[in-house]
Formats: sequence, structure tokens, C-alpha cells
Amino acid sequence: MKAVLSVVVPAYNEEEVLEASHKRLTAVLTGLGSPYELIFVNDGSKDKTAEILDRLAAADECVRFITFSRNFGHMAAITAGIEHASGDAVIVIDADLQDPPEIIPRMVEKWREGYDVVYGKRSKRQGESLFKKISAAVYYRILKRISNINIPVDTGEFRLIDRKVCDVMTGIKEHNRYMRGLVSWVGFRQCAVEFVREERFAGKAKYSLGKMVELSINGLTAFSIKPLRLASLAGAFLSAGGFIWLLIQIIGMITGQGRQDWAVITAVLLLTQGFILLAIGILGEYVGRIFDETKARPAYIIQETKGFRNEGE
Ligand code: UDP
Ligand code: MG
Repeated sequence: MKAVLSVVVPAYNEEEVLEASHKRLTAVLTGLGSPYELIFVNDGSKDKTAEILDRLAAADECVRFITFSRNFGHMAAITAGIEHASGDAVIVIDADLQDPPEIIPRMVEKWREGYDVVYGKRSKRQGESLFKKISAAVYYRILKRISNINIPVDTGEFRLIDRKVCDVMTGIKEHNRYMRGLVSWVGFRQCAVEFVREERFAGKAKYSLGKMVELSINGLTAFSIKPLRLASLAGAFLSAGGFIWLLIQIIGMITGQGRQDWAVITAVLLLTQGFILLAIGILGEYVGRIFDETKARPAYIIQETKGFRNEGE
């Protein structure tokens, strides 16, 4: 039977949670009464994730999975899941049960009312470090300010996407995907469903600090060129300041009163050079993006799939 709902679950080293999330998702989805499919994307896990998925797919005909040849990252996993989904609506949800599956019926309800994208908005975050809470709050607000599109604050990847929006998104061949930005960018009728972000069911967060920083920079540079502008603005401001400063020195020398301390010069030098480096760094971020996109490598490589139709399995 053709699935009405496709649920995409990215999983990277999630052996401790997979069975529990399968159980909770199945309970919620069977309760909805529409045919569904559960697509797990094994993002190059090194633990027993693959074995567990094999077992789940053998026992439950609604389960399908995709295994990557290595770890390609959360965004690539979601992209692959959406590209393989056949439902009329696709729901993306984390494997670790931080996004409660029990919210899905509310999302489906909104979808049936006619919304094309229903995103989960975290009204509260439980069991996350103060650092993560603060950095997320600050980051989403900066992103909202400087990006050209209206990315809703406090949303993650937990959302329902209508088939037509999925088709648009899979047609976009950007390599470094910042999904939550992209989904806002495409438009359509969107609405939010609030939920409390729960504690991770088991295991540790799979986002290292490095991965988080990378994702944040990706989000900023994918959706705004303001940082570039900011760099030139800061540069212009500083050189103007430097010019005035120099004039004051010259006038001081002519009138015979000015002998500034070397410390001031060093400080000014450090400051300006710092800004130059900053500007080059920002430039580098964008050049790096161009480099990545021109290589046009695929966002992920699939090693194995199981449970999908037309596979003869
Ligand atoms: N994830 C992934 N690939 C990665 C890192 C994470 O597929 O390289 C998945 C992970 O299995 C989970 C989701 O992305 O289902 C969110 O990861 P995590 O819980 O570590 O992030 P957080 O909730 O801390 O933002
Ligand atoms: Mg999590």
C-alpha cells in the first residue's frame, strides 16, 4: 500500500535508542490509521545501528533503511531520507526521542488543514547544557537578524513537509544544505506546533562542538552575505579612523606637542590587523563554499538500502 506518511529518522551511532524510537513511532503512527513508512538513515554508524536496523526491517514491513558509505552528517542524512520518501507528507524527526513522536498527530492535523510545512518549535529544552541553550538562543536570533529570509527561531529539523515542498527541496542541488534555512526559503504555507524538547532517551549527543560550529557557519553563510558586507564596513570604518588619527599626529608634530606612546601605535596596529584577518576569514568562508559547490560532489554516498519497493528483496 502506498504510504501517506513517510517518517525520516537520521541515525548516527544510535544503538541505544533505535528500538525505543521504533516502538514509540510505531505506536503513534499506527494510531493515526494512515499507511506509513519509517525510513531510517544510517549515517555511517560505527556501532550496532546497522544490525538493529536490519532486524527492525526484517520484522516490520513499514521499516526501510539507507546506509551511507561513511558519516556524511545530519543534513545529508535528512536529504537522503527525503529523496527516498514516497509519502504525501514527510516528517523528519531525530532518532534520540528529543523530538517527541506524540507531537506528530498535531502536525498531521495542521497538514490536513492545508499547511504545507508544519515545524516543531521548542518552547522549552530539557536536559541540555546551559552552554547549548544559550548558544542556540543567541545563534538563532543572530541568524534571523542577518539572513534575508525568515528562519523561525528555536526550530530544529523536527517538521512535517508536504509532498510538493519535498519535490521542490529535492530539486535544489545545493551541496552544503542547511535544511531549516532551505525549508523557510522555499516558502509555501507554514505554521508552527510548539513542543517541549525532551532529554535524550539514551546515549550521548552525536553533534560534537566542531560539528555544531560547522553547521552554524554553514547556516549563516548559506543564507546571508551580510557578514561579507560587515567586514568591508568594519574595514572602511577603521581606515577612516586611522586616517584621522594620522592627521592628528601630523598636526601634533607640526605644532610640536605630539609624541604619542608606542603602545598606542601597537594597539592600533593589532586592532586593524585583527580586522583585516577577520575580513579575510569571512571571505574565506564564502570562497570555501564556492569551492565546495563547484566540485559538485554528491551530498552523500549510499552503500546499501533495504525495505524500499522495486528492490526485489
Ligand atoms: N546525526 C546524524 N549524523 C551526524 C550527527 C547526528 O545523522 O553526523 C543524527 C543523530 O543520530 C540524531 C540527530 O542527528 O538523530 C540529532 O543529533 P544529536 O541528538 O546529537 O543533536 P542534538 O539533539 O544535540 O542537537
Ligand atoms: Mg539530540
